[in-house]
Amino acid sequence: GSVRTLTARVAPLGARLVLALIEDRTREKRVEAVRRDFVANVSHELKTPVGAIRLLAEAVTDASDDPEAVQRFANRMLTESDRLSKLVQQIIELSRLQGHDPLEKPVMVDLDAAVATAVDTSAMEAVAKEITVDSRGEHGLEVFGSQEQIGAAVSNLVANAVAYSGRGSRVVVTTRSKGEQVQISVVDQGIGIPAEDIDRIFERFYRVDPARHRSTGGTGLGLAIVKHVAATHGGDIAVWSVQGQGSTFTLTLPRNPEPGQGSGRPTTPV
Ligand code: ADP
Repeated sequence: GSVRTLTARVAPLGARLVLALIEDRTREKRVEAVRRDFVANVSHELKTPVGAIRLLAEAVTDASDDPEAVQRFANRMLTESDRLSKLVQQIIELSRLQGHDPLEKPVMVDLDAAVATAVDTSAMEAVAKEITVDSRGEHGLEVFGSQEQIGAAVSNLVANAVAYSGRGSRVVVTTRSKGEQVQISVVDQGIGIPAEDIDRIFERFYRVDPARHRSTGGTGLGLAIVKHVAATHGGDIAVWSVQGQGSTFTLTLPRNPEPGQGSGRPTTPV
């Protein structure tokens, strides 16, 4: 009887092990597929501005006897190369995040400083569009993690709020504590996000309106970075939006994330 009992006890364990291995393989394959996708997307996204710069350079050469046209093409070359360098910078940022576990050596992150830096970073664009950016709520809130990463996440949210809002509107950044968590929300009165796109905006390179994007210079990577930072800190990012009225992005972070709670298990592998 004892051998049988033993087999009965061991079998489910063995089955579980096999299942775990299969799950591991499946996950590996999924990660691999996502990586391949990422490389394909990066190549595609880089080719567009590079191609445009090449065409514009040819146009400048052909238009050498028309100073006004030369000026126009040169300006567009500047815009395209700015886009290209922003894209490269964000791709590097995203892949750097991947290799860095913010909870390995967490520091006390000063949220006031993160918000102040974010507001400063978007100040020029905000002034140009006469947008007021206010911050309010509780001061002195702290979380454990990476100051650089949380700073980058808040900066991306504020930059989007300004980029997707009309002239003269208002952006409010609020910090509050909620039990063991802190929340940073960024509220705008901008163009909002169509319901059918809202689930996809956190995907890399996803843009609601790619055509409009060419002019605003977005890369489609900002929210992917925010989502990754939230996940590796054991928190999350939520969005609420009404098209034509505005959007609210809320980043929730645990004050004291447990080591390994978020990192290594981001919702989407990068
Ligand atoms: P991008 O560099 O294009 O802004 P993001 O990943 O930051 O890339 O955002 C993805 C898309 O989500 C944007 O292209 C835009 O369509 C939409 N979006 C993001 N933030 C806002 C916002 N505050 N208001 C309206 N749309 C937004």
